[in-house]
Amino acid sequence: MREIAVVGAGTMGAGIAQLAAQQGCTVRLIDVSREVLDRAMQELERQLGRLVEKGKLSPAERDVTIHRIRPQDAIRDLGDVELAVEAVVEQMDIKHKVFSSLAGACSPSAILASNTSSLSITQIAEAVEDRSRVVGMHFFNPAPIMPLVEIVAGRESASTATDQAYEAARTWGKVPVHAKDTPGFIVNRVARGFYLEALRLLGEGVAGVDEIDGIMRLRGGFRMGPFELMDLVGLDVNLAVSTSVYEQFGQAVRFKPHEIQQRLVSEGHHGRKTGRGFYVYENDAVLPACPVDRRSFQLTPLLSDVTQAFAHGAGVDRASATEGYVFTRILAAIINEAGHALSDGVATADDIDLAMTKGTNYPKGPLAWAQAIGPRTVRGALKALNEASGDGRYAPAKYFAEAS
Ligand code: NAD
Repeated sequence: MREIAVVGAGTMGAGIAQLAAQQGCTVRLIDVSREVLDRAMQELERQLGRLVEKGKLSPAERDVTIHRIRPQDAIRDLGDVELAVEAVVEQMDIKHKVFSSLAGACSPSAILASNTSSLSITQIAEAVEDRSRVVGMHFFNPAPIMPLVEIVAGRESASTATDQAYEAARTWGKVPVHAKDTPGFIVNRVARGFYLEALRLLGEGVAGVDEIDGIMRLRGGFRMGPFELMDLVGLDVNLAVSTSVYEQFGQAVRFKPHEIQQRLVSEGHHGRKTGRGFYVYENDAVLPACPVDRRSFQLTPLLSDVTQAFAHGAGVDRASATEGYVFTRILAAIINEAGHALSDGVATADDIDLAMTKGTNYPKGPLAWAQAIGPRTVRGALKALNEASGDGRYAPAKYFAEAS
């Protein structure tokens, strides 16, 4: 693909435009006004300037890249565009207007892709007569750096269209995976347990934010703990994803947003960007800002055994009871959701694992982790945790319920 259009010049659109232009594409970057476009172009020049400073781009390459990006303030004259990527605000009515205009302005053979995180590709495609050419291309922030792109097939997407989107992402140096059009696709669904189970442990007084983060980072090998990551992403952004996935799954209890996070968001503590979230960021000293009422907790002999066996199988050796319990609750939630996604046909096991390692930097794919632990040990832990939870949220996915 040499000629592309990106609609929306915000965080994601500008990042996608930069990526494609650096890979040699001519990019029409479209937004609603000259002011927004001027700001986006200034930001793009700043980003490319930083790459020059770091020696990753020559000044000549920077100039060529910037010249490949052509800002325009309306969707028109896109007859030579082969792929249009929409990255406007997350509202169905606005997406519909954009897709309807794109269908009129692009040639009938152009692929029309949405970067939506939470809306249905099938529904977005309703604005277009030929729905076979509408697909999802879900990039991750920052788009020029994060390797993963989820290629999402709506109900009427043609396989030739998803294949072309997949190929475009691959030639731009990305790691594409195929996903079905289901809530949260792969990453935003499977990752929910990382955050929500950590919040539940905090709420139950099992451990503090820095302890839970430390266990997942130092013992589990995650690059960041769940609270550190929520602070970085933004508690508000993370909560919006949890709420959307929860609603789209008919308020399934395992996706229920947590009141601690809701309270922090309503108080304006959105994480690093507001100086305070689960931690407070002042004068370089990062301190937990979310004190917990530590309570003693009891583990039945069965829970103690299964969590130790699970943690040991996952490579966490000589774990204390708290470490084994915290780690198992969080990782088991992630692994079980990966099993649900696999059973629901969202993606292949390889693509689910690839998505979680490339989209969220997990040290290992959840299904590969389950294999290492042993499916029977995983099922044993899920059953015991489910019994203890009393709300059914750990009910083993069909994939594990049937594993031998
Ligand atoms: P943003 O608010 O930074 O940018 C949205 C841009 O769209 C704005 O510049 C706005 O002026 C423009 N816009 C609005 N209506 C328009 C129209 N009719 N025509 C042209 N431009 C229009 O948003 P964002 O964070 O870049 O998110 C964009 C999309 O990407 C959303 O669908 C979001 O779900 C998805 N997404 C976001 C992230 C993320 O981390 N921010 C990650 C993956 C996917």
